[in-house]
Amino acid sequence: MGDKVTGYTAMSRSEELVPRVYDAPVLKADEVRVAVTHCGICGSDLQAVDDTYQVFDFPFVPGHEVVGIIREVGDGVPVSRLGERVGVGWQARACGKCELCRQGLPQLCLEVVDNGTWTPIGGFSSAIVAQSRFVYPLPADMADETAAVLLCAGLSVYSALSRHSAALEPWLGVVGIGGLGHLALQFGKALGYEVTAISSSAAKREEALAFGASRFLDMGEKGAFKPFNDYFNLVLITAHGGFDWDRILGVMKRRGKIILAAFPKVTLDPVDLVVHELSIAGTFVGTPDEMREMLAFAQAHHIRPMVEVMPLSRVNEAVCRVRENKARYRVVLVNDLG
Ligand SMILES: [Zn+2]
Ligand SMILES: [Zn+2]
Repeated sequence: MGDKVTGYTAMSRSEELVPRVYDAPVLKADEVRVAVTHCGICGSDLQAVDDTYQVFDFPFVPGHEVVGIIREVGDGVPVSRLGERVGVGWQARACGKCELCRQGLPQLCLEVVDNGTWTPIGGFSSAIVAQSRFVYPLPADMADETAAVLLCAGLSVYSALSRHSAALEPWLGVVGIGGLGHLALQFGKALGYEVTAISSSAAKREEALAFGASRFLDMGEKGAFKPFNDYFNLVLITAHGGFDWDRILGVMKRRGKIILAAFPKVTLDPVDLVVHELSIAGTFVGTPDEMREMLAFAQAHHIRPMVEVMPLSRVNEAVCRVRENKARYRVVLVNDLG
């Protein structure tokens, strides 16, 4: 492939992305170059463009739900990988040396800021570079746009749900029915949970039931939480806000677990937390093993995100749809840069 890469670049905070041409980064021995065919838009891309984390330097090219073809391999990567259709999620590299990498948890690598697929050039582009071990073969029959969304949103909810046993604790609540939530309903049901969708959008009731929820808790309805007192073993939070923590605590069984896959402000009365021995934990993408497991599991159980497909050249329009919460439920960009 050519020695230039075109990337839609965030130049400064909350500005429109602009196409820029870069010299293609030189590959290290363990890296591959992936020509991007598809890239999903994840909430974290928008948060980075809006500088929510205040850890990334502008300019940068967002995009970390990448599907494409391996076009070049570093000296240490088998040439048999050339031409492979692959996926890359949030993580493109890890140091391989720190305590967390040595424990098999590279997603928690201490070099986290430099490990994202955004470095050096993310997936809203013609090509990315990643360490070969974070570049996953995709099931042959899985559609490109399905795979793209599974690589970040799918992994995030699958790893959270599969680490707990539905056989012992089947009562799952999913708060927020959006990009992550609509996949959590599908994965939850397939993993054996009895799933309740918890949302303030009553209009999503029918779709939530079709995705796999057996019940729909409309947070806007008076008394909606009452029948669920002391009900859930596990609640997965996929919403960044818009819910009442005390109500969530009230529906947890003793020793129940609340898992955050999003970044809502946590404001709660600790009494229930203590006397009911509840726990709250975060979850961040997943391990490479969980990624491979998730892709095979999703394929076997026909798990599919609901996706809107748009050309990469209309990325700013697509970003607006996601920002305004209009996308049902994710947008995947198709590379039309030629
Ligand atoms: Zn993501
Ligand atoms: Zn590390």
